[in-house]
Amino acid sequence: MKELDWANLAFGYLPTDYNVRCYFRDGKWGPVEATTSDTINIHMAATALHYGQEIFEGLKAFRGKDGKIRIFRLEENAHRIQESAKGILMEPVPEEIFREAVIKAVKMNERFVPPYGSGASLYIRPLELGMSAQVGVKPSTEYLFMVLVTPVGPYFKEGFRPTNICIMRDYDRVAPKGTGRWKVGGNYAASLMAGEHAHDLGYSAVLYLDPREKKYLDECGPANFFAIKDGKYITPASESILPSITNKSLQQIARDMGIEVESRHIPLEELSEIQEAAACGTAAVASPVAEIHDLDTGKKYVVSPDGEPGPITTELYNRLRAIQLGEADDVHGWNTIVE
Ligand SMILES: *Cc1c(COP(=O)(O)O)cnc(C)c1O
Repeated sequence: MKELDWANLAFGYLPTDYNVRCYFRDGKWGPVEATTSDTINIHMAATALHYGQEIFEGLKAFRGKDGKIRIFRLEENAHRIQESAKGILMEPVPEEIFREAVIKAVKMNERFVPPYGSGASLYIRPLELGMSAQVGVKPSTEYLFMVLVTPVGPYFKEGFRPTNICIMRDYDRVAPKGTGRWKVGGNYAASLMAGEHAHDLGYSAVLYLDPREKKYLDECGPANFFAIKDGKYITPASESILPSITNKSLQQIARDMGIEVESRHIPLEELSEIQEAAACGTAAVASPVAEIHDLDTGKKYVVSPDGEPGPITTELYNRLRAIQLGEADDVHGWNTIVE
């Protein structure tokens, strides 16, 4: 294979050699099998296509300093996809099947795991689809669970730099007691319009307010949000937020550094009292925020007056990356080493 230009890969889809599939039929899960086909055969009346029975995950594998491949927080992703399945009445994938499928997909595509030092990684996308033909609104009785992988370049191609985000009140991503807490494809469909609008205006993401009262901070585009206020790590808590595994990991690292963590409602006005802010998720780990513009009121919250990422955000980012790359001790047992 021609050596890929790892450092300049986009966050896109590059074909790999195999993907892995497992079907739930007649009340049980079948074998975990690899295929070279990158299309799926699906009935035109499948519930995934009509009623949105589709859930997914996103995690990464890295080539470490010691040459070994590490998958970050596989078990957490296995638990979360089970919660998503229960949330929209799909069949939960047993943790053992999730583990086997993810490891198999990584191993069989080992040549696509970018080298240590490239800044690139292997993105792992597990997904589950409702497959049975159903015209009435009912959950499927058959499911396909599959795992595809693709190499992705470094998130920060121009360096770890803060960007501007905006607040808009004309769109909600999810409902107050809706599907926001689960990783369902439909939440993304519901966020596309706001996201495009924000990009057109020059912002990297929308900082959503809580969908009930529009008083509290919620998610930042398809990522969680955290801020540093007087030395504390604060992050919004609400039933419409997807529990980000990156956020959970950063909270643990913050505690390890002796930083207090508060997960609670954060009123919008508190943005004028913070010293640092970032969006967090698997793709970027932490994407620092420079300014937050409230498009409806015209108010601008300048988080980073000098345009530099904050010191605590930078330290949290570096520590998490070091664990993923095997440069720092994995004291909490977050990595699965692929033998
Ligand atoms: C996947 C996702 C995140 C980030 O979760 P990680 O586990 O950190 O990657 C945040 N918000 C939404 C809406 C998501 O779908």
